[in-house]
Amino acid sequence: MLKRLNLTAGIFLLVLVWHTTEAQVERWQQKVKYEMDVTMDVETNQYRGTQKLAYTNNSPDTLTRAFYHLYYNAFQPNSMMDVRSRTIADPDRRVGNRIFNLGPDEIGYVKVNVLTMDGQPTSFVHEETILEVDLPKPILPGQTVTFDMEFEAQVPLQIRRAGRDNAEGIRYSMAQWYPKMAAYDIRGWHANPYIGREFYGNFGDFDVKITIDKTYTLGGTGYLQNANEIGHGYEDAGVTVPAPQGSTLTWHFFAPDVHDFMWAADPNYTHEKVQMEDGPMVHFLYVKNDKTAENWSRLKGYTVDAIKFMSDNFGKYPYDQFSVVQGGDGGMEYPMSTLITGHRNMRSLAGVTIHELIHMWYYGVLGFNESSEPWLDEGFTTWGTNVVMDAVFEKDPNFIQDGNYRSYFRLAESGFEEPLTTHADHYDRNFAYGAGTYSKGAVFVEQLAYIMGKENFDKAMLRLWNDWQFKHPNGNDVIRIMEKVSDLELDWYLDYFVASTKTIDYGVKNVEAAGDNTKITLERVGQMPMPIDLVVTYQDGSQETIYLPLVIMRGSKPEEEGKPARLMTEKWPWTNYTKEVTLARPISDIQSVEIDPSLRLADINRANNKFEVSVALPQK
Ligand SMILES: [Zn+2]
Repeated sequence: MLKRLNLTAGIFLLVLVWHTTEAQVERWQQKVKYEMDVTMDVETNQYRGTQKLAYTNNSPDTLTRAFYHLYYNAFQPNSMMDVRSRTIADPDRRVGNRIFNLGPDEIGYVKVNVLTMDGQPTSFVHEETILEVDLPKPILPGQTVTFDMEFEAQVPLQIRRAGRDNAEGIRYSMAQWYPKMAAYDIRGWHANPYIGREFYGNFGDFDVKITIDKTYTLGGTGYLQNANEIGHGYEDAGVTVPAPQGSTLTWHFFAPDVHDFMWAADPNYTHEKVQMEDGPMVHFLYVKNDKTAENWSRLKGYTVDAIKFMSDNFGKYPYDQFSVVQGGDGGMEYPMSTLITGHRNMRSLAGVTIHELIHMWYYGVLGFNESSEPWLDEGFTTWGTNVVMDAVFEKDPNFIQDGNYRSYFRLAESGFEEPLTTHADHYDRNFAYGAGTYSKGAVFVEQLAYIMGKENFDKAMLRLWNDWQFKHPNGNDVIRIMEKVSDLELDWYLDYFVASTKTIDYGVKNVEAAGDNTKITLERVGQMPMPIDLVVTYQDGSQETIYLPLVIMRGSKPEEEGKPARLMTEKWPWTNYTKEVTLARPISDIQSVEIDPSLRLADINRANNKFEVSVALPQK
């Protein structure tokens, strides 16, 4: 409780410093409060439990139905996830036909046996991965009701993200494991069946008790409430933990202000912790062997440096804990934690950990919707991964986002690109989802800095954090923040780059003498208009920028530090496919003219971006 008060006070101060005239944004959101008590049988891999959910309807709507996710039901032959995984044009090799081949003790399931609302029975049906519930009475705006549930489940053999006995032998990667109330927001219910893509949920508190064989060490989301009874490396220094009575331990976790709860368990985990100064306690849980020992030991320093860098530049990490847990099938973010596979070289291990860590800011705290706007979460995170890796792992002497641009260009040329507004599960190809949400998403972010100027962009990133944390901003909310900070109109950028697959291609068509002046003719070849930084290099090696903002931006970016000084600004109406600029210098002074040598403009054809004057001059 005290923690949250401090946090709020901190934000309030920052807001005061930055924009005293504007209030923070407010938007209603549903509130969830879970209390769960589950018992895991490590012989059968089955668990059963109870769930009490206090649900507050802060929407202006009266709700007559509700929906729970039952994710593990996806891991059964002929489920929607199975069919999709076997029939998509470019299958995910981790899944393929593996769900179809699961035996009865390998499938996953979650069955709800009893569900009441305020003590009255509800009527519900299991529709594969969604429980559809008719409420005994409507939930009115502003009302809080309590759902009480009994459920039983079986952990699937690990196929995708969660499950038991993953490829590296980790016993339990318990993500998507409990009946989870679907999110309800300004776009209504989000009762998406589990097909394979990622997640979205309303913020709330999770109080979770897990009873399991006493040899298992657990980690994940949430603060352990009974650390000195549990031990396993969680106990306070100097405390002697009493030997457990019986064969099990009951771990009691609490996680405030999160929208999901993950845990993992293995009898062979090594548990190490690092307490950051003015930062969280960072936990590392992994099975120590010759594939992990050295790199996981070095990983601690990189993780701490990355948390510090993110906190310094993009907003302070608001929880007291972050856990890096070996498990899952690659790297996946969960609140206050991540599941990653552990047998990796140092660059890969640091890279995946830092990537999932950065998700804490975008998926975790801002709460971007990974289902309907996956490009926001993966785009900002992928962009940030390169920024943070460059800062804490290894300096990249080249343009650090170059890989993302090249990946996006390949997508644009492939013919398989779909608009980033596509729902994550509904992309035709895995390739279009991956290159689109990760790479084009990252390009969206880097290119924003090009459009509005790096300094404005940096300010806007902090304002996004301060105004929207714990509130689920959408793409439009993000662009509105960028507009407010830059004083530019930017809706066109969202419309073209996110909602369409139109591409950018500008060229320098001609540079010719016009008396003592030089006439430069630019052309827009692509369908998407963009502001242009045109850099003129003179014969003496000096450079100047001709800046061509779009008329529809209703303004200009400020001059950017470290870029050639601005010579002039000329607005370019998007309706005009060519633009002539007259430079008050003779052509003999000019060596070359180039569109955006910083490479931040996602110009799909750079062959026509540079005009070498010396080449075009008549030979003497
Ligand atoms: Zn990611």
